[in-house]
Amino acid sequence: MKLYNTLTRTVEEFIPNNKDCVTMYTCGPTVYHYAHIGNLRTYIFEDVLEKTLNYIGYNVKRCMNITDVGHLTSDSDSGEDKMLKGAKREHKTVLEIADYYTNEFKKDTEKLNIKWPEIVSKATDNIDMYINIVEKLLKDEYAYISGGNVYFDTSKLEDYYKLTNHNVDEMVVGVREGVEEDLSKKNQADFVLWFTKSKFDDQELKWDSPWGVGYPGWHIECSGISIKNLGEYLDIHCGGIDNIFPHHTNEIAQSESYLGHKWCSYWVHGEYLNDETGKMSKSKGEFLTVSLLEEKGYSPIHYRFMCLNSSYRKVLVFSYDALDQARNSYQKLKNKIKSLNKNLNKELDNVKTEEYKNKFKEALENDLNTSLALTVIYDLLKDDVNDTTKLYLIEDFDKVLSLDLLKEEKVEVDSELLEYINSMINKRNEAKQNKDYALADQIRNELEEKGILIKDTREGTIYELK
Ligand code: AMP
Ligand code: ZN
Repeated sequence: MKLYNTLTRTVEEFIPNNKDCVTMYTCGPTVYHYAHIGNLRTYIFEDVLEKTLNYIGYNVKRCMNITDVGHLTSDSDSGEDKMLKGAKREHKTVLEIADYYTNEFKKDTEKLNIKWPEIVSKATDNIDMYINIVEKLLKDEYAYISGGNVYFDTSKLEDYYKLTNHNVDEMVVGVREGVEEDLSKKNQADFVLWFTKSKFDDQELKWDSPWGVGYPGWHIECSGISIKNLGEYLDIHCGGIDNIFPHHTNEIAQSESYLGHKWCSYWVHGEYLNDETGKMSKSKGEFLTVSLLEEKGYSPIHYRFMCLNSSYRKVLVFSYDALDQARNSYQKLKNKIKSLNKNLNKELDNVKTEEYKNKFKEALENDLNTSLALTVIYDLLKDDVNDTTKLYLIEDFDKVLSLDLLKEEKVEVDSELLEYINSMINKRNEAKQNKDYALADQIRNELEEKGILIKDTREGTIYELK
């Protein structure tokens, strides 16, 4: 298995610390709002990675955090706590907000066939662990107390920036968004491990600590939860590319200073989902959620299919046209699969089975080339192989792709769609009466592009959804 490692900036052979159990940590959501489909792109890629590792024979122990405290509006240590902001917006408590959006996030992952990680841990359930880490960092002089907060001293590390191309110059106030003047810091790159003095309204959730009543910084949460659940040596750490700096950079700094050795071997990052104006975010433009796509008549799996058609390392630009295209291709693929004969009592073609399994594995082992893995399915469908073998292989491949390729769904026609189809059929009948066959054909094609096939029968025109 080859994976692009952000740490070495190369595609590397994946060699786990313990081949009997691969450990994988993925940064979880900050549950102050619904996840947008950009966030979910990252979780889809992580899901495919975990399932690929399973497919090629590894046992995977995966852990994800739920951030319910400490993530400020800037990923650096400035701004308001996102959770507090969400609670104010909805006139609820932070815990109510956290529970509600964690649940909504879980529902979204289910709709997208994303497996819920084996270990999911809330940031607020691990306060003791963060306190332990911070105490040790203070004892070993990697951290200092200033202005009421505990900071990590980045000048103690020679290779603080090893995960990123950032350099000290970019940490000058005013150069990068999120770099604010904080007179309590010794170096601008230093970051907060534990807050007792926040720069905004009173925090709702606070805990006792040796440094006073306060709350943890966002970065320490992931280090603490990962080390506690997956041990001192981590194989794979994932997230979106915006996590590389400062979040993952800070995780490495504090974890390795605490442990006294290298912590994680492979850092794997997913690229952004953009809209036409740039990175999709919760605060700008149409807030694209899975539920919104469903309201517009798409299935969440159409979106998963769209994501798998591109490389996780390339920017994917979202548009409804692109999603329409994905839906059409998906429906065509499903139709081809549907036409295979399920009752054929033929034996598996062992030679072809092995050949196609190898091709599929090779595609995914090549830094998760999901679009090539999909091509293997198209090749298989075209090949002169018996249907029993085809169905067996598709079921096997869908363990990784999770595209419901063999699921026969009942098509529920919504009333809006029904009205649209009827009006188009009427228009077409009128055109035919007027002998305007060009227009009639145009209407037929337009419907077909949307996956609606029409047929003229003696009883009138009927339609079928592809
Ligand atoms: P958050 O809930 O903001 O902590 O983000 C959850 C995950 O979504 C993180 O791994 C981010 O890196 C990722 N993410 C945020 N925005 C995007 C985007 N536009 N495209 C892909 N991933 C994103
Ligand atoms: Zn994290």
